[in-house]
Amino acid sequence: MNILIVGAGGFIGSHLSEEIGANHGDWAVTAVDITSSKIEHLLAQKKINFLRMDILKDLEPLEEQVKNCDVVFPLAAIASPLAYVKDPLQVFELDFEANLRIVRWAVKYDKRVVFPSTSEVYGMCPDEEFNEETSNLVTGPVGKQRWIYSCCKQMLDRVIYAHGVQNGLRYTLFRPFNWIGPRLDDIYRAENGSSRVVSQFMSNILHGKDINLVNGGNQSRCFTYISDAVDALIKIIENKGGCADRQIINIGNPYNELTIKELAVKIVELAKGYDKLQSNANGVKIVEMDSTDYYGKSYQDVQRRVPCVKKAESILNWKPVVGIDQLLTRTMDFYFG
Ligand code: NAD
Repeated sequence: MNILIVGAGGFIGSHLSEEIGANHGDWAVTAVDITSSKIEHLLAQKKINFLRMDILKDLEPLEEQVKNCDVVFPLAAIASPLAYVKDPLQVFELDFEANLRIVRWAVKYDKRVVFPSTSEVYGMCPDEEFNEETSNLVTGPVGKQRWIYSCCKQMLDRVIYAHGVQNGLRYTLFRPFNWIGPRLDDIYRAENGSSRVVSQFMSNILHGKDINLVNGGNQSRCFTYISDAVDALIKIIENKGGCADRQIINIGNPYNELTIKELAVKIVELAKGYDKLQSNANGVKIVEMDSTDYYGKSYQDVQRRVPCVKKAESILNWKPVVGIDQLLTRTMDFYFG
């Protein structure tokens, strides 16, 4: 099987490529990205073929790769809340337009698509647990530009679903809930708001900056370790008996729910155990901050986000196993161990 991973140089793509390279001898990866820095350690393997391409520009060669693959993962996207409010049009061009082209080529050449939707599509849904089939997708007013990412993903979910119904497209939509692990973000460069929360907090400690709790940090998230997540993706690729065909599947760990304030406290405590962080961790301040001051006025928050994972458990026979402490320790060991 030739698996085309577009955005293979990113966090998820690098772990998926690594797992396929190590444990799936009869699969090959065509890894497309503008950068290979997170997958340099894999490029000596014959079965990982890296192609440097900009998917906004290199349209013909990209179409050729879709034509040649068996299954495509269109993973390239901007997934940073700061970008949603500072440059929503760039988010739209990459996350929606460029990925729509890939989906259309998959339809044209009759390829399977495994598309990363997101937990963000549920938005401010009040349900206790977000369910793929029954939960409403609730976003805010247009002026709250942070929803552009959620809407791009939701629209692609709907387009892919419609191609399944009207054109027989074989697809799986997976919805990651805060996947965390090594290679998540570049913590050495992270400016405030530019990276995901775990990397942001580690970066702030590293650089001796305060940790900011947006709107008090009482919002909660469920953190999922990347090896659990990649296990689910492998099962989706295997697709035993067509179990993942035309399914939308939450991939998250409902047992790892923490408020952002609790997360900050945990990370600071753990940081005291690493030489590179110890002195800064002892002096770090955890400061509450209004979201308007942090992200600007077009931000709006999601208070709680818990996945229902019954579908993943039943159709994929999958369960997350890495607990929150282990998840944070493994991630921090990678950066500072
Ligand atoms: P990432 O930012 O680590 O990786 C994205 C990759 O896309 C990067 O390597 C980047 O270089 C590449 N890319 C960006 N622009 C490109 C271009 N013009 N041409 C070619 N490559 C380009 O993101 P990730 O965490 O690996 O996420 C992958 C996908 O999963 C994204 O679609 C994201 O929205 C989705 N997702 C991730 C999470 C999560 O918890 N990590 C949650 C929800 C959804």
